[in-house]
Amino acid sequence: MTLPDSVRAALEDAAQTIVEATYVTALAGAGMSAESGIPTFRGPGGLWKKYGEPDNLGYQRFLKDPQQWWEERLSENQMPEMREALEKAEPNPGHYALVDLERIGALRHLVTQNVDNLHRAAGSESISEIHGNHTLIRCIKCVRRFRRDEISLDKLPPECPTCDGLLKTDTVMFGEPIPPDVLRRCQEEAALSDCVLILGTSAIVYPAAALPEVARRLNGATLIEINPNETALTEVCDIVVRAPTGEALPELVTAVRRAQGHGEVSGGILEAT
Ligand code: NAD
Ligand code: ZN
Repeated sequence: MTLPDSVRAALEDAAQTIVEATYVTALAGAGMSAESGIPTFRGPGGLWKKYGEPDNLGYQRFLKDPQQWWEERLSENQMPEMREALEKAEPNPGHYALVDLERIGALRHLVTQNVDNLHRAAGSESISEIHGNHTLIRCIKCVRRFRRDEISLDKLPPECPTCDGLLKTDTVMFGEPIPPDVLRRCQEEAALSDCVLILGTSAIVYPAAALPEVARRLNGATLIEINPNETALTEVCDIVVRAPTGEALPELVTAVRRAQGHGEVSGGILEAT
């Protein structure tokens, strides 16, 4: 893996900043999973180029006729490449590098916009899935989440076993408010951050995209972007690493370890020290 010198220099800066910060968080987006074979929505090869950008009424349609929504969901194969990619995908070196950063105390919390479950599969523990997790089902009344195999889909729409509320996939639909528990946690984490890594996100979906700016406003947080392309937040970032996260993040772990005074490490997931 050969990264250009400019990228290496930016990664060294990023590592130094991370080591000097007191509370580092990350905001991840679809680009983090591009190297796991999951298409992004925007950017080169994004799904919106093929299907067009959906309207903002998905949640309203669900509320109007949840039975029909569930029937369509179970029978139709909308965006087949997305469904297939989600089924097959495995974490890439970028996901594992974030686990390493968490274990060595360099990353306190990860807010991901991805619904693909790959951060959890890799081993990230301090994580908020701001747009949900496609492997889960959520009650819109009590906000409890269930594994898919815990819920019978014999009768549609399914009801919450705890409160009889309406169940939907945990994935946040277009036009659906962010579930209040996860939104609160994301805001609390942003308010604590004095350094935010912005990873593989076009940073135009709100309120997720606002989190780095909240950290900046409240704490003067340093913003570090890793993305091969320019984004809506590039201009306000202090350090920009123009590289794919699957290549840059493992290098960042090495640089952070060096800056922490632990020296070089050889591949794989690190032991906590
Ligand atoms: P986006 O599709 O709007 O933008 C993708 C970003 O990833 C672009 O900035 C692109 O330059 C960057 N990118 C592409 N390849 C990359 C790589 N190898 N390394 C780093 N960056 C790379 O994605 P978004 O900002 O996350 O917003 C889209 C919304 O759609 C999200 O809210 C998310 O919930 C959802 N979504 C999720 C998934 C998933 O779960 N994997 C996939 C597509 C979309
Ligand atoms: Zn409920």
